[in-house]
Amino acid sequence: MSRSVLVTGGNRGIGLAIAHKFADSGDKVVVTHRSGPPPEGISGVFCEITDPASVATAVEEARNLHGPIEVLVANAGITRDGLLLGMSDEDFVEVVTTNLLGAVRAAREVLTDMAKARCGRIVFVSSVSGLAGAPGQTNYTAAKAGLLGFARSLAKEMGPRGITVNVVSPGLIDTDMAQGVTGARRDQLLKETSLRRAGTPDEVAGAVHYLASESAGYITGANLPVSGGGMLGN
Ligand code: NDP
Repeated sequence: MSRSVLVTGGNRGIGLAIAHKFADSGDKVVVTHRSGPPPEGISGVFCEITDPASVATAVEEARNLHGPIEVLVANAGITRDGLLLGMSDEDFVEVVTTNLLGAVRAAREVLTDMAKARCGRIVFVSSVSGLAGAPGQTNYTAAKAGLLGFARSLAKEMGPRGITVNVVSPGLIDTDMAQGVTGARRDQLLKETSLRRAGTPDEVAGAVHYLASESAGYITGANLPVSGGGMLGN
C-alpha cells in the first residue's frame, strides 16, 4: 500500500525523520518547506503555515503531485520562550498561530479528500510540555495543549467517516529546536525521564508511523507520549 502523505515542516528535525520513515516504507511523501529547500529525494511544496492561502496552495500542490491526501502529519512548530510578565502579544500570537492554528488549517484542507475516501489518518505533533506545563513556555504550552482538545473533538467529528485523529507528544528530542535547552534546564529535563536521555527524531517518527498504520485502525482521539518516561501521569 503506497499512500499519499503530507508532512508539514518536513525539511529538517522531527518532520524530516517522519518523512523518511513513510518514504522508506513505500509511501508517496510530500513535505512542506519554508526557509530552506526541500530535502534530497523527497518532494516538497513551499508553505508558510501562518498564512491560510499558503496552506491551501501547499495542500493543492501536494494533491497534484501524489493524489488526494491520505495521511497528514501536522508537525511544523516554533518556540518563542520567555516569562509571561515580559512576553509580547506578538510572541504569544505567533506561537499559537504556528503551532495550533497552522495545524488546524492543514487538517481542514485535507479533510475533504479524507471524507470523500471515507478513510484517513491525521497525526498532530504536540509536546509533553503541553500536558505538564513549563516555565517560560506559556505560549507554547497553550498551543500544544490546545492541539489535544482540538484532536479529540476532530476525532469525534470525523470518526464516522473512517478518519482517525491522534496526537504524539515528544519530550526533549535532539533537533535545532532543542539547541536552546542547555545547562541546568537540560540536565533537569533529562533527570525527569526514566531513560535518562533525550530522544531522537527517528523515535518520534516511529510513533507517528504507527498511529498512521493499519495496525492503529481502532485508535483515535489518543495521545501517545514519546518522552522516555518523562512527565508520566500527565
Ligand atoms: P525544528 O525547529 O528542527 O523544525 C521545525 C520545523 O517547522 C521546520 O521545518 C520549520 O521550517 C517548520 N516551521 C516552523 N514555523 C513554520 C512556519 N511558520 N511555516 C512553515 N513551517 C514552519 O523543530 P523540531 O523538529 O524539533 O520540532 C518539530 C515539532 O515537534 C514541533 O511542532 C515541535 O514543537 C515539536 N516538539 C519538539 C520537541 C523537541 O525537543 N525538539 C519536543 C516536543 C515537541 P523552517 O525550516 O522554515 O524554519
